[in-house]
Amino acid sequence: MKVTGIAGINLSHSGWEEGRALIVLDSYDIIVVGAGPAGSCAAWRAALEGLSVLLIEKESEIGFPVRCAEGISQRGVHAFLGDPDPRCISASINRVRLTSPEGTSVVLAHELDGYILDRRVFDKALAEKAESAGAEILTGSPALGMKRSNEMWELTVNTAGSDVVIPARGIVAADGIESIVGRWAGLASHTPVRRMESCFQYTLADLDIEQNVIEMVFGSKISPGGYSWIFPKGEGKANVGLGVIRHVAPEKITARDYLDRWVEDRFPGARCLRAVAGGVIVGKTLYSISSDGVILVGDAAHQINPLSGAGISSGMRAGWMGGGILAEQIAAGDTSARALKRYDTMWKRTLGDLQENHLRLAEVVLNMKDEQFNKLAGELSLLPEKKRTMYAAVSGAVRTSPSLLLKLAGYFRNWRSVSSGSGYPVTLP
Ligand code: FAD
Repeated sequence: MKVTGIAGINLSHSGWEEGRALIVLDSYDIIVVGAGPAGSCAAWRAALEGLSVLLIEKESEIGFPVRCAEGISQRGVHAFLGDPDPRCISASINRVRLTSPEGTSVVLAHELDGYILDRRVFDKALAEKAESAGAEILTGSPALGMKRSNEMWELTVNTAGSDVVIPARGIVAADGIESIVGRWAGLASHTPVRRMESCFQYTLADLDIEQNVIEMVFGSKISPGGYSWIFPKGEGKANVGLGVIRHVAPEKITARDYLDRWVEDRFPGARCLRAVAGGVIVGKTLYSISSDGVILVGDAAHQINPLSGAGISSGMRAGWMGGGILAEQIAAGDTSARALKRYDTMWKRTLGDLQENHLRLAEVVLNMKDEQFNKLAGELSLLPEKKRTMYAAVSGAVRTSPSLLLKLAGYFRNWRSVSSGSGYPVTLP
C-alpha cells in the first residue's frame, strides 16, 4: 500500500491565523477520519463514485494496535473481500460453546460459519481496496479539529510534524469508540456510563483448545453485566477476554482484575503474547448520525451489536452505505443536514431495527442471574445435540424465569419483521 506523506499532497496556500503558521492544502470532496473497517469502506465506496477522497489515520500503521477479539461471520467478510487473502484469517469457526457460571458447557448445534481475523492484515486489505479505487491515505496524522466555512469543512490535521488545514465538502467520522468528530459537528455523541462495557483481553499461547469452537462464559463473578470469550487464533493461540459493566459489578475492581482471576483459574501457565483494553457500547445507534456535510459510521455512530459486542461487519456496512450516500449528495450539490437524513433513515430501516431488537435480548441475557444460567445450561445439556440451537437457548431462558417472557415479548414480536425485512438495499462490491 502506498501511504501518502504531506509532500504528496498539493499545497493550496499558506499564511497566519491567530498567531500560528497556517498551511492550507488543496481541497477534497470527502475526508474520512479513521482507517478502521468503517472508514476504509466509506472511503472505498466514495472513491468508486469518482470523488476525490482522503482517508486519514492517527496511528502510523493501519490495523495496529488491534483492540478486538476479531470474530466475524464468514458472510461479513466475503460480502466485501470475496475470497480474502488467507493471511487475513487466523481461524475458521463452526461451533459455539456456552458455559454457565458453575461450569456446565454446552456446544450448540452447527449454526455458525465464522472467522477469527488477523485485523492487522484485514484492516490493511480494506484500506488497500479504498486506495485501489482512488482514495489517498495519510497515516500518522490525527485530526485535531474542524470548522465550517462557506459550505465546506476545514479539517485541521497534524501530519509530518505540522498542523495543516484541509478543506472538504464532506466529512466521514469513522474515528471509533472515542469519536470526537461527531461532537465537532455538533452531534450529541456521548455514551452513558451504563451503556459502556469495559473490556480487557489477552492473546494467549500454548492452549489446549478446539480451534473451530468459540466459547462464551457467563457469570456474575467472572464478568458481571457482560461475558467472557475464548476465540481461537490457530496453533494453540486464542484471544481470551471479557467485558464488564462497571455499575452492576459487585466488586469495584477493573476488567483486567476480573480477567486475571479467570485466566489464572482456567489457563494456568498459559503464555501471554499481547494485552489490550477497550470499550464496547452496549446500546443503540446515536439518535442522529448525520449533520451538515458530515456522517458518522461504525463505532463513532454506536452501530455495534449490543448482544455480541461485534461491530466490524456492521461498521463496514454502515461505511459502505454512508460513503455512498454522502458521495451522491455531493454530486447532487446538496449536503445539508436535511438531505443527509437519508442515511439515518436507511440505516434504521436496514440494520438499525435489527440492532434495537438485539438490544432487547441483550438486556435480558446480560441481566440473567447465575442460577438461571446454571438451570438453562443443565436443560440444554440434556437435549440431543442437534436440538441444542440458539432458539432452544432463548426459549429455555424464558422457561427458567417466566417473567423474562414479558421482557422478551417485543423481541419475538419484532423478530419476524426485522429478520425478514432487513434485506440490504445497497449493492455491495
Ligand atoms: P475502529 O476500528 O476503532 O477504527 C477507528 C480508527 O480511527 C482507528 O484506527 C483510530 O486510530 C482512528 N482514529 C481515531 N481518532 C482519530 C483522529 N482524531 N484522527 C485520525 N484517526 C483517528 N467486533 C467484532 O465484530 N468482533 C469481535 O470479536 C470484537 N471483539 C472486540 C473485543 C474488544 C476487546 C473490543 C474493545 C471491541 C471488539 N469488537 C469486536 C468491536 C470492534 O473492534 C469495533 O466495533 C470495530 O473495530 C469498529 O470499527 P470502526 O472502523 O468503527 O472503528
